[in-house]
Amino acid sequence: MAFEGLTERLQNAMGKLRRKGKITEKDLREAMREIRLALLEADVNFGVVKDFVKTVRERALGAEVLDSLTPAQQIVKIVDEELTKVMGKEAVPLNKAPHIPTIIMMVGLQGAGKTTTAGKLAYRLKKQAKARPLFIAADVYRPAAIEQLQTVAQQVDAPVFQLGTDVDPREIVKQGLAQAAEKKNDYVIIDTAGRLQIDEKLMQELADLKAIAQPNEILLTVDAMTGQNAVNVAESFNQQLDITGVVLTKLDGDTRGGAALSIRAVTGKPIKFTGQGEKLSELDVFHPDRMADRILG
Ligand code: GDP
Repeated sequence: MAFEGLTERLQNAMGKLRRKGKITEKDLREAMREIRLALLEADVNFGVVKDFVKTVRERALGAEVLDSLTPAQQIVKIVDEELTKVMGKEAVPLNKAPHIPTIIMMVGLQGAGKTTTAGKLAYRLKKQAKARPLFIAADVYRPAAIEQLQTVAQQVDAPVFQLGTDVDPREIVKQGLAQAAEKKNDYVIIDTAGRLQIDEKLMQELADLKAIAQPNEILLTVDAMTGQNAVNVAESFNQQLDITGVVLTKLDGDTRGGAALSIRAVTGKPIKFTGQGEKLSELDVFHPDRMADRILG
């Protein structure tokens, strides 16, 4: 379960304040120190922690919270609101094209959960919007990648456009899009190549595919369990591709939660979904307010 340690430590800090009744500036300072350490230990980005603590402290001091009848309660409310804000305030829906098809380009490092998430998205779109998605298999560097996409596609009962591993991904995408137009698919989900690390060739290929497909959505999948590394990955993909959203996968296995709390503030791009397991149904819309409530426990 995500945020275990963070929840416990925040609750401790808030519990101390609650027991005090009247809260002095010194008490507040001590609580803020504990919150700061709790966030850092949860692997939240250093700059994000700094800004967060500063804002909470200023709000608590500014609005005569300390002199109020329920200071601890009000501080909890401020922390809740600021946690929500750090994660982006409101859920951001998937972009939709004005005319079909809506084109979604999946990007990410190998193993982050890109192909699984592509399947989860198709599952969701079919279920909720009765969509008729077409997958395009544009990862030509690992033969297993196409097979994996086909397996996922079979599970959700959606077609895959593929030309094997000997054709340039740019050509595959062009032909795939032509097929989608012909068959009137309303969604196209392009599964692009992942690499073990970010490299120039990968980025150039993705930039070319973006230029060709002009996607409505460039969704980056990052693995929550990799913490600040996920944030760094998000930052560099965003710099190079101007992504439209992030899917934070494996949140079910991430006990700290640092990536969830940092990505929006660092990249300016919303987390749109979280992956909470390996099953196709285990994709959730990311709601910052609900996540903040969950973190505060
Ligand atoms: P890709 O290389 O980025 O396409 O990654 P895959 O889709 O192959 O996923 C890598 C591994 O992570 C697979 O074993 C998936 O089942 C697993 N995985 C993907 N998303 C999640 C998730 O949200 N939670 C869990 N627990 N596992 C996931």
